[in-house]
Amino acid sequence: MARVYNFSAGPSCLPEDVLKECAQEMMDYNGTGQSVMEMSHRSKAYEPIIEDAEAMVRKLMNVPENYKVLFVQGGGSTQFAMVAENLGIKHKKAAYIETGVWAKKAASEAKKLGIEVDVIASSKDKNYSYIPRVEKISGDYDYAYICFNNTIMGTHYEYIPDCGDIPLVADISSCVLSEPLDVSKFGLLFAGAQKNLAPAGVTLVIIREDLIPEPEACLPGTPTMLCYKTHADNGSMYNTPPCYTIYVLGKVLHWIEANGGAEGMLKRNQEKADYLYNFLDSSDFYHATAEVGSRSLMNVPFLTKYSDHAADDEAAAAKEKEINDKFVKEASDAGLVNLKGHRLVGGMRASIYNAMTLDGVKALVDFMKKFASEN
Ligand SMILES: *Cc1c(COP(=O)(O)O)cnc(C)c1O
Repeated sequence: MARVYNFSAGPSCLPEDVLKECAQEMMDYNGTGQSVMEMSHRSKAYEPIIEDAEAMVRKLMNVPENYKVLFVQGGGSTQFAMVAENLGIKHKKAAYIETGVWAKKAASEAKKLGIEVDVIASSKDKNYSYIPRVEKISGDYDYAYICFNNTIMGTHYEYIPDCGDIPLVADISSCVLSEPLDVSKFGLLFAGAQKNLAPAGVTLVIIREDLIPEPEACLPGTPTMLCYKTHADNGSMYNTPPCYTIYVLGKVLHWIEANGGAEGMLKRNQEKADYLYNFLDSSDFYHATAEVGSRSLMNVPFLTKYSDHAADDEAAAAKEKEINDKFVKEASDAGLVNLKGHRLVGGMRASIYNAMTLDGVKALVDFMKKFASEN
């Protein structure tokens, strides 16, 4: 079976060079006679792997000295709680900008922990198809929270809200290292690895040192594993880290470096996204759902003309579903997989993370043209 073009929102495609290297080293990593999967995380062979991964994150993201880089588990979803338990400790109050599912889940997790959540802006009025403009965030908030790239809605911040002294927390799960980002503008950044960095299993956290509380200062009852201090004090090795995932992460980071670093990724991603959006904007069969000025370079949801009356006409809705299913099936048969849209947006979604090639996007657009002419 030939390799497919995988447009999955996550876990998602990895650079082929990385997969080949992993395959090559599977039976014998670096003369150790073992796979990295089998190694003790405290071994001489493994130590440099996690150290290098951290060093590469620091280098590629230009992480300032006064920030810790942590590798934790539990995915982006665990960070929703961890952020509140570690940062929501003084006023027990935080500002959230509501831009879709992931931002809402984060807010609801904070509420569960007794944090007073102020939703200071929302794009709910237009089904989260844009990013609200918030010039200045002020008030007695312990932190302000944003989801920087909205994987499901296909939206992305084109600005960083000014929070003054309030630490800004951003979920960058689906856009980490897709573009340069000024880490110093944030108090805390986190990203589940399975979108843009590695297989599932590790979550990257970048946190300003002065924001890491003593475990006793976290919200009452916060488990040891959910205190950032636990991981910061132990070089992300308080317990067994996801060793193999971190090893692949290191390889992906070297691949990013070899391809121009964050700037190189932005150039590559802009080219791919422009190619797809230009086609969508010029098409009378398809249209993108995210508004210009808020569009993600990573996740591109789109609908067909059959969606136009689907909301208020049952026959039209049935026809739309038939067309969407047909699109996804025929695309898959053509080697373009995982294009089904999220149910909250409908239609299709192409996730075109760092590892997706321009050739992959061109193949998708060629298929879309053919499908439009036949339907
Ligand atoms: C995928 C995703 C999450 C959830 O990540 P898990 O690792 O599955 O918990 C959170 N936020 C964003 C923006 C995502 O894309």
